[in-house]
Amino acid sequence: MNITIIGTGYVGLTAAICFANSGHKVISIDKNEEKINLLKSGKSPIYEKNMEEMLSQAINSGNIIFSTDLEYGIKNSIINILAVGTPQSENSGEADLSYILSASKEMAQYIDEYKLIIIKSTVPIGTNHEVKKIIEENSSQKIDIASNPEFMREGFAIEDFMKPDRIISGIENEKSQKLIEKLYQKWIENNFPILFTDIKTAELIKYSSNAFLMTKIAFINEISNLAEATNCNISDLTKAMGMDHRIGDKFLNPGPGIGGSCFPKDSLALSHIAKKYQKNLSILDQVIASNNQRFVDMAKKISKITKNNKKIAILGLSFKAGTDDVRMSPAIEIIKHLLQDNFDITAFDPESMKNSQKILENKIKYADNIKECYDYSQYVVILTEWVEFKEIKNYSDFKEKVIIDLRNII
Ligand code: NAD
Repeated sequence: MNITIIGTGYVGLTAAICFANSGHKVISIDKNEEKINLLKSGKSPIYEKNMEEMLSQAINSGNIIFSTDLEYGIKNSIINILAVGTPQSENSGEADLSYILSASKEMAQYIDEYKLIIIKSTVPIGTNHEVKKIIEENSSQKIDIASNPEFMREGFAIEDFMKPDRIISGIENEKSQKLIEKLYQKWIENNFPILFTDIKTAELIKYSSNAFLMTKIAFINEISNLAEATNCNISDLTKAMGMDHRIGDKFLNPGPGIGGSCFPKDSLALSHIAKKYQKNLSILDQVIASNNQRFVDMAKKISKITKNNKKIAILGLSFKAGTDDVRMSPAIEIIKHLLQDNFDITAFDPESMKNSQKILENKIKYADNIKECYDYSQYVVILTEWVEFKEIKNYSDFKEKVIIDLRNII
């Protein structure tokens, strides 16, 4: 079937490529011309494992078209999927819906027959209905709206999209359900579970899932503080806890704090949603506070270990291994605290140097490779768990250095 996806970010591009390689005819739209030109030439604007191979496969099959022409996209598909960003508002921390709402208004003017509009972006309860209202006010056509939140992890985007734990869809009628079943026909044939619910519940499922996962990590981060203070072995502890099926072994690795473009912003957005309905999510509020404190504590820990020596090398800038995404990266947050304490930093990351420079500018120095970064100082801090950083164990002077491994990879 013909589908149009608006937004070629981590989610939109992954969805576009995966749907195209599953046999759909996809029109992938972005207003960013630079991204579209890059994609047309077969290059991915983001780093993601297997993305470029899957992109070439999609282009060669003739199943994908990249364009900035929204009118063309809307007019040529019954299903239109919105996958634009919903970042954190700068002042309040609520979800910033400006991209969703302006894209909806723009889309409305081109809708001249029935469409199913699917929102894949993470949006607060009621947003799908707000989008429907905007479109119906600005177009004479009847549309249906459906929520289809995305659960893929950056670093495993293609794999997660193709083999999801579950597909969630909030719908308002049988017609939408049938279209979504057609969209995910390949997944249904392969027995991946698909759960239909109402639209508002689907919106809340996404936020609740992210908030729960963030809680799990924040909990083990605090337990690791206690384990360190009492000389207990955190690796044995998490292994033992994870062997209990009720707990599970995922998301039990302590680290330098929770980052990325989803967990911190979605948890904050959920806390705001609850306040709007006069409900208190006190556990979640404490998780958010605990995570913010974690970045301060990690900077203090580095400072304590390096004593008066302010010259350090940092390995890792992306929010986790396998991605070039630095949005709310713990590494960047910790570096900001260290810079306030006048640290002199040289850093290296295999994929996110360009993105990091946009945030940190020339406040730190950037090395060309691991060795150059490592050689910069007696103190080497590991902030992202890229496997290639393990190679420092083979350097001749490794035992003479102080390695501050905040990801426990060494
Ligand atoms: P992103 O910032 O990487 O990409 C958004 C894209 O939308 C950009 O390329 C931007 O140019 C484009 N865009 C914005 N307005 C547009 C318009 N009017 N017309 C056409 N293109 C437009 O965002 P992302 O990380 O892909 O996230 C998208 C949504 O999915 C967010 O709501 C996010 O919370 C959610 N989500 C993200 C992830 C993740 O791992 N990144 C996982 C699950 C859910």
